[in-house]
Amino acid sequence: MKTVLITGASRGIGREIALKFAKNGYSIILNYNSSEQKAIEVAKEVESLGSRYLLYKADVADETQVANMIDKAMQTFGHIDVLVNNAGVALSKLFQQTSATEVAKVFGVNTFGVINCTKAVVPNMIYNKQGKIINISSVWGKVGASMETIYSASKGAVIAFTLALAKELAPSNISVNCVCPGVIDTDMLLNLTNNEKEQLKEQTPLMRLGTPQDIANAVYFLASDNANFITGQVITVDGGFAL
Ligand code: NAP
Repeated sequence: MKTVLITGASRGIGREIALKFAKNGYSIILNYNSSEQKAIEVAKEVESLGSRYLLYKADVADETQVANMIDKAMQTFGHIDVLVNNAGVALSKLFQQTSATEVAKVFGVNTFGVINCTKAVVPNMIYNKQGKIINISSVWGKVGASMETIYSASKGAVIAFTLALAKELAPSNISVNCVCPGVIDTDMLLNLTNNEKEQLKEQTPLMRLGTPQDIANAVYFLASDNANFITGQVITVDGGFAL
């Protein structure tokens, strides 16, 4: 049975990715950081779908916590076939008003989180000569967003990381791809008014907000055998928002 590690699986897109893999027979390592109760609920859903799981609290920005999580996952399942680097935090603020602490937090989770988890998982993938790594960036990492300069930069770094690592790991039969969501209806939009959400819908050629399922479908495709000859790609799932 294949095993997938999903960071930030307690809510939103990560939760939906976990359910998608559970429906397809994967064992799931569910990472969360602060939303323990919600993570437990996701674990129950995964179990009810017949999948084995490991629920693990770790701050992806902390290299030691990540290393301990991977050790535990390896003891439990023996291998990790797919890594989905999904955990992320948003920051909407004028660049000039952003503090060094806020910059460190956003880069800590969005960029170093991806690096920490990937670094911890890759040795086993290289040993097994197979693996799929899927990084969740953002459409803002491609085109940039006003008032989200630091967030955009942290996600742009994930795209560059994906491209470079795809080249480095290809000889070991490990693919590295990236999904760039557009505006997806999750807790990340909680600071938007209904009116602002309506405006975003109107700016989207497909005339709706994205759902966590839209992203989970793309991630699952990239993890599947149907994507075995795809690496180093940046797939935008945004209803045409950034066209
Ligand atoms: P969300 O609903 O706010 O969920 C964020 C997830 O990240 C939660 O499960 C949270 O876990 C986890 N997380 C945050 N900090 C963490 C840390 N230090 N360590 C481990 N986990 C941590 O956001 P979402 O919309 O599902 O976003 C998922 C990903 O998609 C993020 O990378 C985000 O940047 C990206 N994205 C989202 C949108 C959008 O419109 N929603 C658009 C583009 C890209 P806890 O609550 O347990 O801490």
